[in-house]
Amino acid sequence: MQHDTPEIGLVRLPGRLPTTVDDIGFWYDDDMATRFSVAAWDVAGAWWSGLFSQNTLVAIRSVNGRLDHTRRSLRLKAQGVDAGAMMRAADQALQNLKNPAFFDSAETYLEQIAHIEAGFQILNTLQDNVIFGINGARVAGLNYGSSVALGAFASGQTLLQKLVENAVEQMPPPNEFLFLKIKDEGELLSALMLTEVVRRRWPNCQMCLGDHGHENYSLHSVLKEQGRAHPLFDMFDDVVVERGAIPVVLKLRFPVCGAVPSKTLGDIYAHDFEIFAPKRILTMRLSEGRCYWAKCTYCTQNAKFGNGRAPSKSDLVQALDRLSGFAQAGVSHFQFSDEALSPALLREFSQKLVTLGIDIHWACRSKLEPVFGKVLFDQLALAGCYEVLFGLETTVPRIQIAMDKYDRRLDEPAVAEILNAADQAGIGIHLNLIAGFPSETLAELNQTVDFLIQVGQGKSGFTFLLNEFVLFRDTPMFENPHDFGMELVPVGGDIFPNAPFVVPHPMPDAVTPDDVLREMQRAFERLHWGRLGEFAGGDLAVHLYFTSGHGSVFKSGFNPFDCGDSRAVA
Ligand code: SF4
Repeated sequence: MQHDTPEIGLVRLPGRLPTTVDDIGFWYDDDMATRFSVAAWDVAGAWWSGLFSQNTLVAIRSVNGRLDHTRRSLRLKAQGVDAGAMMRAADQALQNLKNPAFFDSAETYLEQIAHIEAGFQILNTLQDNVIFGINGARVAGLNYGSSVALGAFASGQTLLQKLVENAVEQMPPPNEFLFLKIKDEGELLSALMLTEVVRRRWPNCQMCLGDHGHENYSLHSVLKEQGRAHPLFDMFDDVVVERGAIPVVLKLRFPVCGAVPSKTLGDIYAHDFEIFAPKRILTMRLSEGRCYWAKCTYCTQNAKFGNGRAPSKSDLVQALDRLSGFAQAGVSHFQFSDEALSPALLREFSQKLVTLGIDIHWACRSKLEPVFGKVLFDQLALAGCYEVLFGLETTVPRIQIAMDKYDRRLDEPAVAEILNAADQAGIGIHLNLIAGFPSETLAELNQTVDFLIQVGQGKSGFTFLLNEFVLFRDTPMFENPHDFGMELVPVGGDIFPNAPFVVPHPMPDAVTPDDVLREMQRAFERLHWGRLGEFAGGDLAVHLYFTSGHGSVFKSGFNPFDCGDSRAVA
């Protein structure tokens, strides 16, 4: 545990199946590199590699008791299920996901996913305290919105705690200082359990909750509001509230310059974090700035870092410098997680990639703008872009206005033209939609889904998500629910990401949760994804294709799932 040069362990926590590596951000710069080295401490990789092993069965037996385990095992046996063989097959399939050969055909890929799905079923049959799945492990009945409840659970002797211990057993001793980055409430629980395990074995190791903002999840505002009074401050050695304060905290810990980094970040990303995908895919930002639009009433993305600055072209200097180092080290695929990069920034970025000769595959997010067309998409494609994610949300102007995302130039024909131009340029599109926005009627939702089905037909690499509306905290809607016809429902907990609400006077034909499911199903069927569900592992494969690094692998190369009407398997 002693190193000549101080070293920070970058912890990757057990959560959803890791198919990409997450960049730690801009804070580890040249100055920081003279103070300490960084190294991967990949608990997630060890956790997933050991999930379908004998050790997990032993852990289940020790927590649930021999009698319960025997009873459940015998029941499986009576059904003709060889649990041990299925676990071994799932374990092998997980490892196979690192091999490009298993992505060469829909059949071989589906076969692996079916084994993994069967492995989850075995785990979920042998016990019922934890629900295992591709998105990680979920504890039944636990209030993930309460830091106190999570802290209490983390200190107990539970199955999950044992699995974290098992993962740590497989790893080298940690560095003196571990930097924890969490992406959701499940990873917060993992961080708390890991802290318990590490403190028992290495009491001098410092656990720092350094990053807690990802997508729609953020602890930023609650930690800022309550400061050191918040219970999480007692659960970790350090909690960094503002992302911009990470360098300050670390400079206090490591004041002396002169260290020689043992590895570059690029080397760590390219080799040291395990990912269950055949390409090195890195999720990173091009800028610390917020989305340039930053107005949508339902959006929580901009609250998470407390950064009110929009990205600028000068941000690209550092981003390209880092990116080029990562690419040289062996990272081939990039997912830029900036909430919405402007067309102007994307144009500049693409030009720079070509000029600098940086040869990578990449995907990004943007907001639909009239300037998107064949010329710009061609430019992005030339620079290696294989996908752009757009948040369309709805095509109904009345709802767009309520969302503060209305642009009269972007009616349905104009949006269709943009999406067709992307397709012609060879760029895949992912559309995000919101269903059940307060006051939305079923007819309005039908209109949006009709449009989705129409524009999605026959497009290469086209995916979508129809998300049921949730009220995120730290949004204009959360701050002023009555303006949107909502009333908040009191909730137990301090760190809940979404708030329950009611609409006291709903429209007569307001969208219901069943409508959302039906419309999602309709879109899947009409865009020919439904047929994959008839195959073992099909639904899970679609989920991975739509939401994980596996989608990046397929969309940027040979794609047996391409174009709905000609999917290879179906
Ligand atoms: S464009 Fe996207 S990221 Fe920007 S405010 Fe709207 S929803 Fe949020």
